[in-house]
Amino acid sequence: MVENQTSAPPPQPSPGGRGRDRENQFITPAVIGGGYAGMAAAVTLAERGIPVTVYESAKQLGGRARGVPHNELMLDNGQHILLGCYRETLRLIEQVGGNVDSDFLRLPLQLTLNRRFELKAPALPAPLHLMAGLLGAKGLTFGQRISAARFMLSMRHMQFRLPRDGNALELLHTHGQDEDLIRLLWEPICISALNTPAHRASAQVLLNVLRDSLNGTRADSEMLLPRLDFSALFPDRAAEYIARRGGKALMSCGVESIVPQGNEFELQTTDGVQYHSHVVCAASPANTARLFRAVPGLAGIAAQIEALTFQPIYTVYLQYPEQVRLPHPMLGFDRCFAQWLFDKGQIAGQPGLIAVVISAEGRHQELDHEALAQKVAQELREQLDIMDAPLWHQVIAEKRATFSCEPGLARPPQVTPLPNLLLAGDYSAGDYPATLEGAVLSGIRCANEITGNQHTA
Ligand SMILES: Cc1cc2nc3c(=O)[nH]c(=O)nc-3n(C[C@H](O)[C@H](O)[C@H](O)COP(=O)(O)OP(=O)(O)OC[C@H]3O[C@@H](n4cnc5c(N)ncnc54)[C@H](O)[C@@H]3O)c2cc1C
Repeated sequence: MVENQTSAPPPQPSPGGRGRDRENQFITPAVIGGGYAGMAAAVTLAERGIPVTVYESAKQLGGRARGVPHNELMLDNGQHILLGCYRETLRLIEQVGGNVDSDFLRLPLQLTLNRRFELKAPALPAPLHLMAGLLGAKGLTFGQRISAARFMLSMRHMQFRLPRDGNALELLHTHGQDEDLIRLLWEPICISALNTPAHRASAQVLLNVLRDSLNGTRADSEMLLPRLDFSALFPDRAAEYIARRGGKALMSCGVESIVPQGNEFELQTTDGVQYHSHVVCAASPANTARLFRAVPGLAGIAAQIEALTFQPIYTVYLQYPEQVRLPHPMLGFDRCFAQWLFDKGQIAGQPGLIAVVISAEGRHQELDHEALAQKVAQELREQLDIMDAPLWHQVIAEKRATFSCEPGLARPPQVTPLPNLLLAGDYSAGDYPATLEGAVLSGIRCANEITGNQHTA
């Protein structure tokens, strides 16, 4: 059971230091924030026999990847997709009792833009599957297909490392990718992976994603679409997992301040004062900056976090009559407001429900929710001949969905200048853009730092 209660009495003070070689009973960590980063840290600590307390200010776990009830249905605050290369996220989902085979619809790498473009990777060993997919892509000229394959080969040759980061669009132009090829192939990949338009996106981070997804094994490039909502998929199970190991996840229990007191930390929470030997701060960037500002020695990290800028993601849910289906579980549109459409009937047994994702900044932000839903429904009519009117719609706008993943961005490290105070979150230092895997990896690193165990992530 997920708990919703006040915390236990103050635990034993810790002897301080980085936590290595310490008896577990002296390690009484707090995790601030029950999103994917915080729950990954908590599960990793619980796995090692350390009772951990998670403080979550919201009424539910999951943060930016959470279930949202609507009428009789569970939606998400935004349709998410995982990739086969998200190894640590998938491992932790299984560790807390999930089953990746039944929790997800797994699709082999396939990018289809309705009536305009299709890339399908055939069943060949990697990286031949990608080369064959690029060379056989529909909707591109022969020259464009060769050019796309040559780009991937050059990046492979450079081991996906750039001597200096720049924007993704410049990199693509430098390597002879023309406007059509960028619009149909690279820009959709860049926007879905980095949630940042190619002219602003970090070329190096885009290459990190291409390296791990398209250049890895065939399984790495698979797309995994969850059959259950994002709170149920991992954070709720994680809360049960840590409860079975003596920890707890406290909801509606936000942390208002962190005060170092000798070898421990005093946390002012909405349920009173609590003491912990270690703190992993996995709250949202804005709240982390606010908490860190007041802690001596952390103003520099707070300033680094405050310097981040953000990009939105909108999800438009359209409920059609049950018989309405898309030609594929996941389908893209070219030159439309709607970028990617997900058929929740085929994915999650919610027939007639279509989730339409619009990532990054753009002209859609000028429309109010009603106008945007109407516009998207009109595009479905025009592109797919869906003549039924939606029975209802729901637009969820996450205005600060992810940090804007720009060239040379200085992301704050997990280890802060204060011993035993660590930072987790998708925006903290790492190879990945703001993703579930980036968040999870940061949480695991914090847990490793506490236990001195570096065997994962
Ligand atoms: C609409 C949308 C679509 C996305 N699509 C994808 C996708 O397809 N694939 C992908 O990999 N990623 C995607 N992402 C990104 C992914 O959701 C995030 O990278 C990830 O959820 C971030 O997790 P986190 O734990 O770092 O932060 P958060 O999820 O923001 O967690 C922070 C938590 O801290 C809590 N909190 C804040 N302040 C306090 C406080 N003072 N005390 C206690 N608790 C506090 C918050 O309530 C929250 O639960 C998407 C994001 C959005 C918004």
